[in-house]
Amino acid sequence: MTPATQGAGQGFAELGLSDTILQGISFAGFDKPRPIQVQTIPAAVDGRDVLGLAQTGTGKTAAFALPILERLREHRKARPRALIIAPTRELATQIAEQTRALARHTGLRVITIFGGVSQRMQTGALRRHPDIIVGCPGRLLDLHDQGYLHLDEVETLVLDEADHMFDMGFLPTIRRILKQLPKRRQNLLFSATMPPDIRGLASEVLRDPHQVELAISQPAQTIDHALIAVAEDRKRDLLDRILRREDCRSAIVFTRTKHRARRLADQLWKGGHKAIALQGNMSQNARDKAMQGFRDGQYQILVATDIVARGIDVQGVAYVINYDVPMTAEAYTHRIGRTGRAELAGQALSFLTPADKRWLKAVQKMLGAEIRRHKEKGFDSGYNERNAPQQVVAGAFGKKKDTKAGPPRKKRGPEPGRKRGSRRGAARSGESPGGGGGRRPGRKPAGKRGGRPRSR
Ligand code: ADP
Ligand code: MG
Repeated sequence: MTPATQGAGQGFAELGLSDTILQGISFAGFDKPRPIQVQTIPAAVDGRDVLGLAQTGTGKTAAFALPILERLREHRKARPRALIIAPTRELATQIAEQTRALARHTGLRVITIFGGVSQRMQTGALRRHPDIIVGCPGRLLDLHDQGYLHLDEVETLVLDEADHMFDMGFLPTIRRILKQLPKRRQNLLFSATMPPDIRGLASEVLRDPHQVELAISQPAQTIDHALIAVAEDRKRDLLDRILRREDCRSAIVFTRTKHRARRLADQLWKGGHKAIALQGNMSQNARDKAMQGFRDGQYQILVATDIVARGIDVQGVAYVINYDVPMTAEAYTHRIGRTGRAELAGQALSFLTPADKRWLKAVQKMLGAEIRRHKEKGFDSGYNERNAPQQVVAGAFGKKKDTKAGPPRKKRGPEPGRKRGSRRGAARSGESPGGGGGRRPGRKPAGKRGGRPRSR
């Protein structure tokens, strides 16, 4: 906003955005465009289809929101002209908030549509002629079928977090929505990863797309991540100790299942921590309250499952703790991306039990490096993978990267075409936060990981 305003125009102005939009960018506090934005905005402003692949936290929202605003700002119509589909309510809300900030000087109206809440407010909002709809598949289709949502004037479609939508079984619903859209339209597809099914969807939906791939499987350089070996039954004590560290102002703790998230949050609360769960069994209202409370600082600890927390942008989370390691190597990068966002330094710690051996191999293979080990006094699982570097990094938590510890390779840079996530198949989920259409036909979730509960 203030000192940034000067520079703000510069980089963004060169992307073909007009003054009204540049003012919105200043208002949002963006200084320079991010790489994904530089590489996709001009083509999208030109009206081309875009396929944008970049990991979480790289600024994909503005990459699609800005061109939409630029193209819509000239005139308004009675019916919505842009449709942004996202997999979860939290993401839809976040996208809408960011888009509204950027749209501040355009007079364009942005509304959200998702399940789990009464549809009355949404149908009311639809009557007031919104320009941009941000929503989750189930409720979008539902309101369309009921005649509240008119899709025949949509000029631009965005599929955000396409990989995640597939994971959640939304493709059939999305296909049905696509049928309601005008044939001639612009399509923007953004995703963190590009598994074959999404590649298929992309080739179905996109016409001669401008493709950008910044798919770096490395976590952001600002994230210091480490493993702590611990026995399963000592995890809680270890967590308690970490949460009491002075530099642990805020933390997101990930568990494998909804049930574990709920129970752990309860236990932490009883232990005197300001903790709250965020998991898919909670009502929408409870989820909103948890998120808001965490953003406000009312809660310092958010205990979450992957699905609900993925893609969520919370500024300045000090710690991400994998209480249970994620199913896949890719999920690891997604999770620890919660910290260290927007170039703020963050710490990520993963609790590693002897049962996580295979997981560790897969992650380190994906990263192309071994993850640093942290040893916490009094916690030793006896985990002893052969050849694993067992380094004691005394009190290194608060410090920035210890370059001696483990061999975190220096920046690897973008690697177009790099194959990622061989173990994706295991990360499926049965949760369907979009309020419908959440079954995935013909896919067996989580089977391969042997004995793990599938619910997350
Ligand atoms: P993604 O969708 O790729 O995960 P987001 O669009 O949520 O990432 O952006 C991540 C964070 O970066 C958000 O807090 C967003 O406000 C911020 N951001 C995006 N673009 C810029 C920019 N050009 N300058 C500064 N901050 C930005
Ligand atoms: Mg996003």
